[in-house]
Amino acid sequence: MPVPSQSEVSVHQTNVPATAGVYTALYDGQCEICQAFVSWLRVLDKRHRVTSTPISAEALQQLGKELDLTACLRQLHVIRPEGRIEVGWDAVACLARLFPATWVIGTLGRIPPFRQLGRLAYGFVAANRYSLSKCRGGACSVARPALVRRRATLGAFWSCYTLGLLLRLPLVIWTALADAWGRVRIFFSTWGRRLDLLHGKLTILFLSGPCPNLVPLIFGELFTALLYDGVAIDPGSPKMRASLRRHLRGIRPGTICAVVGTHHHEEHIGNLDWLAGQAGVKVHVPEKTARLLQPPSRLPFARRLIIGQPPALNAKAEFLESCMPTAHGRLQVIHTPGHCDDHISLYDPEEKLLLAGDAFMGAYFATPNPDVDSRKWVETLERLLELDIEILVEGHGHIHSLRPDIPFIRGVVTREDPRAAIEEKLRYLRWLREQVESGFREDMPVRAIEATCFPWGKRHAWETFANDELIRALTLGHFSRTELVRSFVRSGESVLPVVYEVRFHEGPPTDGRES
Ligand SMILES: [Zn+2]
Repeated sequence: MPVPSQSEVSVHQTNVPATAGVYTALYDGQCEICQAFVSWLRVLDKRHRVTSTPISAEALQQLGKELDLTACLRQLHVIRPEGRIEVGWDAVACLARLFPATWVIGTLGRIPPFRQLGRLAYGFVAANRYSLSKCRGGACSVARPALVRRRATLGAFWSCYTLGLLLRLPLVIWTALADAWGRVRIFFSTWGRRLDLLHGKLTILFLSGPCPNLVPLIFGELFTALLYDGVAIDPGSPKMRASLRRHLRGIRPGTICAVVGTHHHEEHIGNLDWLAGQAGVKVHVPEKTARLLQPPSRLPFARRLIIGQPPALNAKAEFLESCMPTAHGRLQVIHTPGHCDDHISLYDPEEKLLLAGDAFMGAYFATPNPDVDSRKWVETLERLLELDIEILVEGHGHIHSLRPDIPFIRGVVTREDPRAAIEEKLRYLRWLREQVESGFREDMPVRAIEATCFPWGKRHAWETFANDELIRALTLGHFSRTELVRSFVRSGESVLPVVYEVRFHEGPPTDGRES
């Protein structure tokens, strides 16, 4: 969700009623960062010049109807005693001027260039605070006696869990280093490569770019564009375009008959229109994907920096129906929600080949993005098991097959029955579902439920610990093990809304707020 520029919303006159001499700070009561800000405010405000009010529709109604709920959730709003509203950084500076300890900050914060710098810094935090402050629904701040009691008994659990980690720490570090080396080797062995399989029917183009290359090196996820019987699938992001262009030089003109996007994620769809223009063909996407890309919402900072913000999709894109014609046949289009709501996979019944996209990203995947719905994913995998699959191609270039006409390639082809791979993932997701459900039934805090999903007794829990935590840190919590727990408690038919929309619809917490 973009933060409007300060000039759009900065200071405006209003007839909002305000208590004489008292400033009113409107803050997001479900945001850990905003709550910490209020804690500081309460320490500094010895003369009780500021009232802090958590935002709710009712609170805004009482204050005045021209205060927009979304705008208030997006940035701090301060109503001055005379009724003027200060927004964002200007609101922070306005409050800072009230107290001797912060007066200098507040005063400098009003004059250039400090004002502009303050606005920049504030804008960054405001845009990313939901990644940093993940307590959706305010569950962590809701003080319930049963929950407090439960937490007390969790002492033993945490000491045990911590000990388990400490005892394995040398192993954790060793595995992390070995995995990092493995990722580097696979990256360089696939860099810029083109892989022709099934007598040229299936081509994998490995994509790269200076910033995107960080992902295969740190996360181990490869970037690819697929070419299947003339259909180009998921041709990467604009930051990978140069490598795609290089690949195109080696492809005979007229080979590509259509361009398809499997879902709206930026590393798959940023070149759809560009490639279609180069090949002189049409773009085909699911209708939901088209809606999400006209225009696409602004990505969080880390994803924007590394993968790149995709352009808006051309409105002339065709919607995928149940079947997608290829150069010599056709592919079945299968709706496969779970990884995200608009996801589709493509199946060739003749070849018994499934182009799964991101509907299959390895049997074990611990750091999903915030629009994964694992319950839907379980249903999707159950449906995929009904298909006769001999070759499973993932959206990031990995292939699972036992077929002799698919050669073994280290880091790309896994000699494994695709059915067994799907079944293993299903077992893992069902087990996670059980852990999460029983955790919530027992009223455990989310952090503890997360820990029960990664018991040290299961090898993958400590083997990937260092990498998972690195991913969490580098993406400001956007991709994390915590998201895996949350991915089981999502609901609703529509594409998942942004964080504060989810929280707002659930209603504000009623008690236990910081006092
Ligand atoms: Zn994806």
